[in-house]
Amino acid sequence: MNFYEQIHSMYSNAIRERVKNANAADVERALGREHLEIADFAALVSPAAAPYIEEIARRSAAITERRFGRVIQLYAPLYVSNECVNKCVYCGFSHEVGIPRLTLTIEQAIAEADAIASLGFRHILLVSGEDRRYVTVPYLTEIVRNLNNKFAAISIEIQPMSEDEYRELVAAGVDGLAIYQETYDEALYKTLHPAGPKRNYKNRLDAIEAGGRAGMHSLGIGALLGLGDWRNEAVMVAMHGRYLARKFWRSRVAVSFPRIRGSAHKFQPKSLPTDADLVQMICAMRLALPDAELVMSTRENARLRDSLIGLGITRTSAGSKTNPGGYEMDEASGPKGGEQFAVSDPRKPAEVAAAIAAKGYEPVWKDFDRTLAKC
Ligand code: SF4
Repeated sequence: MNFYEQIHSMYSNAIRERVKNANAADVERALGREHLEIADFAALVSPAAAPYIEEIARRSAAITERRFGRVIQLYAPLYVSNECVNKCVYCGFSHEVGIPRLTLTIEQAIAEADAIASLGFRHILLVSGEDRRYVTVPYLTEIVRNLNNKFAAISIEIQPMSEDEYRELVAAGVDGLAIYQETYDEALYKTLHPAGPKRNYKNRLDAIEAGGRAGMHSLGIGALLGLGDWRNEAVMVAMHGRYLARKFWRSRVAVSFPRIRGSAHKFQPKSLPTDADLVQMICAMRLALPDAELVMSTRENARLRDSLIGLGITRTSAGSKTNPGGYEMDEASGPKGGEQFAVSDPRKPAEVAAAIAAKGYEPVWKDFDRTLAKC
């Protein structure tokens, strides 16, 4: 059964019922287990688990320290293009939003990457909207070949591609792929993605597996929190993470927890998870996926990000710019593109690193070497 079929199975319906109906006994049973079933995870993200959040967080912290040590890996996104053919109703890059559009030239992308490297980063995430006319495989491979000697790990968050295209990117030096499903609720997905290739729910779901088959070392997934019911989304993300970890055991699953932020689109989410909900989701995810990277971006504010250090997060961005040209470009080098969303943590990378160190954790700029991945 592939993951799309799993989503439509009786099993996933039963798990969603479990979220709704879980009681204290279910939560305590889950906390008593060494290895969680997905049904146990459902209990841990249910409303019945709210009084147990400290216990869940304590366990999450212990597992994280045992598996990863007292380290937090730092990365920075490099937006290479904000062109997009899709009309996602929540996104500042949506085709119908009137922002300045820009695709960096190869030289501009290298200059932006140099600015990121000068801040200390050795892990970089290349991000774009979804428009194949601008962000092509040759375009990306040329950028990546120029960045290989500057960065220990290069990941991409771009439009879904074919397995062969991912193979070309892996051969050029791409190590990681992130494709967020946004919402795992297929009916809701259709209403949020009214036009463009992204409207194809299954195609998006299949793309991360194409990346796994192509040899991506890191497979990043997540739901955009604020679209669907966060507890159900959490269950689907955990199921998806387990599925990918089993199927692509050579790769590492990475889970992100993006909450919707304000953008030029002015989308109003029906219900955003609170900070406490987010902590519950992250810590429960650690119990369900002990070996997964759990990722926190600058969508969240400094106070919350700092409080999550040591609880389960293992990778965080810092000093992020969410527009093409945001790091280095000035009037002399040309106009910048519009941003995707406003960040909530404006601290410089060095300040984020100092906050991590102040918590007794080591900020790690490089913890991966692609030569090791080939062993
Ligand atoms: S979420 Fe992605 S695909 Fe959708 S409009 Fe934004 S950049 Fe385009």
